[in-house]
Amino acid sequence: MKINQVMRRLPNMTELLEKSEVTKLIDRFNKNMVNEALNQSLEELRQELLSKAKAKENIDVKTREQYASVVISKAIERLSCSPYSLKRVVNATGVVLHTNLGRAPLPKQALQRINEVSQSYSNLEYNLDRGERGERYNHVRSLLCDITGSEDALVVNNNAAAVLLSLSALASGKEVVISRGQLVEIGGSFRIPDVMIQSGAKLVEIGTTNKTHLRDYERAINENTALILKVHTSNFKIMGFSTQVSHEELVSLGKKYELPVMEDLGSGVLLNLNSLQDFGEPTVSDSIKAGVDLVTFSGDKLLGGPQAGIIVGTCELISKIKQHPLTRAVRIDKLTLSALEAVLMLYKYEQYEEIPLYNMLSKSEEKLQQDAEELAYRLKKVITNKGEVAIVDDVSEVGGGALPGEEIPTKAVAIKPKNVSVEILATKLRHVETPVIGRIKNDSLLLDVRTMSKEDIKIAVKMVMEAL
Ligand SMILES: *Cc1c(COP(=O)(O)O)cnc(C)c1O
Repeated sequence: MKINQVMRRLPNMTELLEKSEVTKLIDRFNKNMVNEALNQSLEELRQELLSKAKAKENIDVKTREQYASVVISKAIERLSCSPYSLKRVVNATGVVLHTNLGRAPLPKQALQRINEVSQSYSNLEYNLDRGERGERYNHVRSLLCDITGSEDALVVNNNAAAVLLSLSALASGKEVVISRGQLVEIGGSFRIPDVMIQSGAKLVEIGTTNKTHLRDYERAINENTALILKVHTSNFKIMGFSTQVSHEELVSLGKKYELPVMEDLGSGVLLNLNSLQDFGEPTVSDSIKAGVDLVTFSGDKLLGGPQAGIIVGTCELISKIKQHPLTRAVRIDKLTLSALEAVLMLYKYEQYEEIPLYNMLSKSEEKLQQDAEELAYRLKKVITNKGEVAIVDDVSEVGGGALPGEEIPTKAVAIKPKNVSVEILATKLRHVETPVIGRIKNDSLLLDVRTMSKEDIKIAVKMVMEAL
């Protein structure tokens, strides 16, 4: 058959759009996306046939109906490779708070709240008692006060914003005293000295990298001092011959000179929870109890919620901060606020097991072993002779600039591919429908089960099958 005759058998878009499979696709995705996928698939088939004809290769001639099926199945393939840029991935790195992979996964209650609150209107800034304008910050205010023991609270876009805003409102044009051992950089561009410059406050460094004493603070205080700042060294540890001044000492020094003490805690462990006690991470409630006037921390680190910056402290300081013009620029949005309220509710009613982050951090060795066995068993079935599968003991880290140096024992499944290199396998697994991110060690790809849910295990197996 001549190529022109073959081409005339190809279906047109109108015909394709009438097929029942296509109607189903439109229901699942949307008309424009399906249209685009069909168009591209039709064009791809046309080009394939033309290039075969040009190369004088044999063309497998099909009926019009059969060509339509070919185009539709190509379109399905295109659509199932998500057209979205931001997508779900399986975190098999074992790093619980992976900043590049979106930090804390949200509890289902948070998603339910986002759904309910944002599909319609809400009382975001409306006081239902009085029928007039209300404050968005009030929705989580009393929850935060209850949980941390603070007088007042304010939430903003993220912790970097919380620190910048607090310093701008309380210390612009004045001096802030901070220990040299706490001038931290938190990944990329957040450096305490730079944030200080942005806020208009003047940094007064005291002590040395490893040792700062109470007398160093006292000597630096003068009539221009606005604030004593303590920053949690959340992503590194100074070991050995080192001293930092305790909360209690700083608080009494602050009282003596009538200066507020602010602490940037970063990681945001709210309370002393059993599963976290082993790590000795400082908690927000401990700082408040010790009398620290203002504490800032992240919503999406060890709190296990959405990205947010949380400021808790005295009514006097919080109300000063609220009045600063930057507050409006860094304000929290309604999706985050509804998710954060849901997560804080879980804390209030002590339903910690509902918070995915806690589940992952507190997974027992038996549970890890069970998950690893299940993953290994399923992988062996799909990999067969294309590679070796073994369960290995390894260590994972918390990540996200929290609990530095803490290595948690974990279990991983190691895949050693036979026909391709481990790098190629890792690359392929990043380009499947649901990307799977593991870590390469000793020529194997490790899938750490600590950060994988039951569903993730099933998805990972499917994706490995696709990749190999
Ligand atoms: C992580 C961290 C920040 C930045 O918080 P984001 O929520 O990422 O904006 C600031 N300070 C400390 C001490 C941190 O650990």
